Amino acid sequence: MNRADDATHRERMRTLVDFTATSLTTEFPSPFGSSIYDATSGELVAQAYDTVIAQCDPTDHAEMNAIRLATKKLRQLSLAGHILYSTCEPCPMCMSACIWAELDAVVFGASTMEDANRYWPQASDMTPVELASHMRRTPRCTVRQHVERSSCQELFRRCDEVLRERKLTLPPHR
Ligand SMILES: [Zn+2]
Repeated sequence: MNRADDATHRERMRTLVDFTATSLTTEFPSPFGSSIYDATSGELVAQAYDTVIAQCDPTDHAEMNAIRLATKKLRQLSLAGHILYSTCEPCPMCMSACIWAELDAVVFGASTMEDANRYWPQASDMTPVELASHMRRTPRCTVRQHVERSSCQELFRRCDEVLRERKLTLPPHR
């Protein structure tokens, strides 16, 4: 069960936004960040931003990277008892990974279609809530949306600014 309250969700999302913003000064700026917390102890287990372009791997979304880091760190396949945070609504690939990883809950900031798609073309509009509704395991992974949404929207805007300033275009390498 998700034992974190609203204030805790907001605090963790602000921490994630600050972490993700550090990517803006790197060679591969990205507004997509994800973190995973132990739902009981409140420990930060993993955080990552997306490395799709850096690694030339279309599956290296922030959530995928955070899940990979967490399972390797904990040396276990199941992340039951953990909560995943994402600056953006998880795509179908990432939400499926969350389901397979048995995460208790997913908390996100910005919306896929209304926010992210303005800057980064999105491949699918399938929502995480819809995917979670097909889960066979109970209790199902809960999805909490729009936590610190404006902070996440601002991250997308700043990233777009950085990309323009540095004359980087998206989607690159296609
Ligand atoms: Zn994704």
